[in-house]
Amino acid sequence: MQTSPVHNVFALTPSKAPTLPRVLLIYTGGTIGMVRNPQTGVHEPLNFEHLVSHVPELSQIKVAVSTIQFEQPIDSSNMTPHHWAMIARIIVENYEKYDGFVVLHGTDTMAYTASALSYMLDNLQKPVILTGSQLPIGVLRTDGKENLITAIEMAADHDRIGQPMVPEVCVYFQSKLLRGNRSKKLSAEEFNAFRSPNYPALAEIGVHITYAHHHINYPREHNTPLRPRYSFCTDVVMLKLFPGISQMMVHSVLAIPSLRGVVLETFGAGNAMTESWFLDEIASAVRRGVVVINVTQCIDGMVEMSTYDTGNRLNKAGVISAGDMTTEATITKLMFLLGQGQSQEEVGKNMLTSIAGEID
Ligand code: ASP
Repeated sequence: MQTSPVHNVFALTPSKAPTLPRVLLIYTGGTIGMVRNPQTGVHEPLNFEHLVSHVPELSQIKVAVSTIQFEQPIDSSNMTPHHWAMIARIIVENYEKYDGFVVLHGTDTMAYTASALSYMLDNLQKPVILTGSQLPIGVLRTDGKENLITAIEMAADHDRIGQPMVPEVCVYFQSKLLRGNRSKKLSAEEFNAFRSPNYPALAEIGVHITYAHHHINYPREHNTPLRPRYSFCTDVVMLKLFPGISQMMVHSVLAIPSLRGVVLETFGAGNAMTESWFLDEIASAVRRGVVVINVTQCIDGMVEMSTYDTGNRLNKAGVISAGDMTTEATITKLMFLLGQGQSQEEVGKNMLTSIAGEID
């Protein structure tokens, strides 16, 4: 699906603009702005005017908010690297004009987009906060209003010398601000849908907003510009192991001619079958130049391939550990590193090096 952003940025609170912090709200779609089609009963995306009409509180917030939206807001299941680049470009083109950015996004693939943006926006020095909701904003019990308003407040928030409180790509959901590339959608039901199992929250929101300063990444170089990188390689696949997976299935996936990278979702601390057909298939893909990354199916904890023989054999076959990265952060990082033209060896090395705090 091709969508292009509306080019005119319009201000919700123009009269306040000169004195207040400025935030650009980028509306890409998701449940937050959807309405239920009475004929089909299905939630469908609507435009931004519809969304803001349900949040009159936006005019009271002490932030000058401007907005820009995808011409056709989308369900985040339709997000692609093309859309990630569109969001990144909007941020880059407006970077100097705003103190922070809020990206309204569907929850389903929010963790992927947040991870991708964190790699794309090298040397980011301003907040980019993704949020959305489980219930549309027009529904009485919506979780969208609080998510939206608090995300805007945090994107605008700065310390006494004017430095932003959280100059990172984050996900804000239900009173927790999470590092975007550590976040995961864990519930299709609860309002509290996101967690970052292997990294503490960057802020907890109750009566007050309490930032965990020692967990936030602050820029080392203040006077260097944002360095955007937009390319992703899509010649990758995720292969989730399960007891009984057949050789034919594994072989068919690994034999895809254009294949450049595989994220192998393994058991526990990075373990897989020790049957020789399986290890031979993996080793042969690695010899052909395919990057194979080992990520755990567990929600938290990390891959340690030296703990068991079952993991150690993968190591010997040339598989690279994803450490404590989420699957979302791993697949997007693999696509990103390959997209930057890196060789198999370079990707292997850089996979274990943090780009934006996604790995310990
Ligand atoms: N399917 C929706 C989306 O990801 C779900 C949501 O926004 O919560 O766009």
